[in-house]
Amino acid sequence: MTQVYDKVALIGLGLIASSMFWAMKRGGLASEVRGFARSSETRETARKIGLCDVVCDSLKEAVKDADLVVLCVPVGVMGDVAKEIAPFLKAGATVSDVGSVKNAVIDAVGPHLPEGVEFIPAHPLAGTEHSGPEAGFAELFDNRFTVLVPVEGSEKKAISKLRELWEGMGANVEEMDADHHDLVLAVTSHAPHLIAYTMVGVADDLSRVTDSEVIKYSAAGFRDFTRIAASDPTMWRDVFLNNKEATLEILGRFTEELFALQRAIRTGDGEHLFDYFTHTRAIRRGIIEAGQDTDAPNFGREKK
Ligand code: NAP
Repeated sequence: MTQVYDKVALIGLGLIASSMFWAMKRGGLASEVRGFARSSETRETARKIGLCDVVCDSLKEAVKDADLVVLCVPVGVMGDVAKEIAPFLKAGATVSDVGSVKNAVIDAVGPHLPEGVEFIPAHPLAGTEHSGPEAGFAELFDNRFTVLVPVEGSEKKAISKLRELWEGMGANVEEMDADHHDLVLAVTSHAPHLIAYTMVGVADDLSRVTDSEVIKYSAAGFRDFTRIAASDPTMWRDVFLNNKEATLEILGRFTEELFALQRAIRTGDGEHLFDYFTHTRAIRRGIIEAGQDTDAPNFGREKK
């Protein structure tokens, strides 16, 4: 149990913030965590389940004494929230966020923050398809990566403190610049989500013809797409609107590969298909070797 910060404020009390709270408690990483959410309904739920030491009814009350303020709201509203909290931030405080895109958040938040406040954007590469204050759990970040994206002038001491917090919450911490982060995430997360959304949409059209067989036989691969495509619509709308360039670049490349595979199927080019699938299988093995997934049958899911 090593305390890293005295007072922490979590703005937005959904999946990520609630997981951070439980992980901070588990590690004894902060003496007091205050939380604020936009709706009174979420604040009530938070009070009921003991999420945060103090649940505040105003942003001011939540941030005024905080040594660390973490914005855990959808990417599209980070700038508005930063503007609202700016006058109440303590001198020397660190402001961070957990947004899934970084360039847009830096552009939206940075200009509002006063002199003497450190801004260190971050992104935990961990999540589930669930959202809201009851979705969080202390283990969410264990052995997952959290990327810190320090901006120009970020103080080294403040960066190491934030790193210490994320490591205390179980994460492996890496640093990257915002352009690189947004491109890597477009490949590993944003484009795959869009493809899953599309596939589930197509299958839904089909199911009207096939009388729900899509659902009945979903174990054949489709089920894993549906889990991803159940992710929060607000969050994902904001991700695509705010990581436009990198996502469109990757989708362009995806379309080219898809056409190549389509041609291989049409022309009966089995060698192309076999080589392609052999290559992709090796990538899957690499992920398992890096400890980022399990090779247990059925992805380690428990039998229901
Ligand atoms: P979530 O469970 O949907 O929670 C979002 C929270 O933000 C809620 O407490 C909500 O308040 C609040 N909020 C929404 N709109 C707001 C506004 N206009 N002003 C103030 N508060 C507002 O979301 P989450 O999954 O924790 O995601 C939060 C952030 O983490 C996002 O930026 C997302 O990109 C990032 N992230 C998500 C994942 C993931 O897999 N979910 C992974 C890594 C990073 P109410 O409940 O009162 O509406």
